[in-house]
Amino acid sequence: AELISPSTPVPCVLTIAGSDCSGGAGIEADQKTITVHGCYAATCTTVLTVQSSKGLFGSKDTPFNTVSGILKCLVADKLDFKAIKIGVVPESNVQAVLDFLKDEENHHLLKNVVLDPVLFSNLGDAFSDASGLSKLLSLFQCADLITPNMPEADEILRQLMKLPDSKRVLLNNVENMIKATKKLGSLIKTSVLVKGGRTPVDEQGNVNQENPKYIINVFYDHKTGKTTCFQSHYLNSANTHGTGCSLSSSIASNLAKGESMLVAIQKGLEFVAEGIRHAFPKINGPINHVWA
Ligand code: PLP
Repeated sequence: AELISPSTPVPCVLTIAGSDCSGGAGIEADQKTITVHGCYAATCTTVLTVQSSKGLFGSKDTPFNTVSGILKCLVADKLDFKAIKIGVVPESNVQAVLDFLKDEENHHLLKNVVLDPVLFSNLGDAFSDASGLSKLLSLFQCADLITPNMPEADEILRQLMKLPDSKRVLLNNVENMIKATKKLGSLIKTSVLVKGGRTPVDEQGNVNQENPKYIINVFYDHKTGKTTCFQSHYLNSANTHGTGCSLSSSIASNLAKGESMLVAIQKGLEFVAEGIRHAFPKINGPINHVWA
């Protein structure tokens, strides 16, 4: 039989993240998102979770040596990553990921690193405490883009600025969101997309959960120092589980396919919005519509 090989190789995207057995978020959402973007997904699972649409009931970190072993094994297999997405990394595995990112021999593989600093699930369950976050910060310098949501940006800024727990950074309107995004980007010296999906604003640009009108996502480009606001209509939906995971994997896949950062983000936001519009209510999560 004739062997037909594709003329353009499929870009490979590595996701280093936690497993969500319910399938809407975590590495399961990443894999599906990367696949529907026409890329090839390689995975490194950092933690197994026990969860459903009702919440997070338990978790077990992948042993440190297993995470290190997986990453070394993928490199040895000469998978040519065009982008890397990093999601939940429990404190016990941050060093294993850092060793991989810092290894001089891996430098050619570290293109388009998108890090989603997941601190809480959208039901409010914590994935990381203050000590986990301070470790996680060590990975930021290796990323090309960090994608916290507003509450996560607030938490990260408080740690970086050494503010006491009582003192919150005010992210109560668009102006403050832009200021906080700039501050965060300049402190960590990396581009940042602060996501406003959990903090919708009203006509006046004030955060307003009762009368939500728009979602604001603020991008700070570390190379130019410029900020860009992406505004979209608020979608009234309970099916937002996995939106952060799907967005960061979509951005990583778009970058892997050669898009610029701004286009990768714009397309990622459209992909997630389309997913929310078509999500299965029970399974919830934006990625599921693709299989409908
Ligand atoms: N990673 C894992 C393993 C999860 O289980 C979750 C949510 O439950 C997340 C990440 C974050 O999900 P989201 O994309 O909704 O922020």
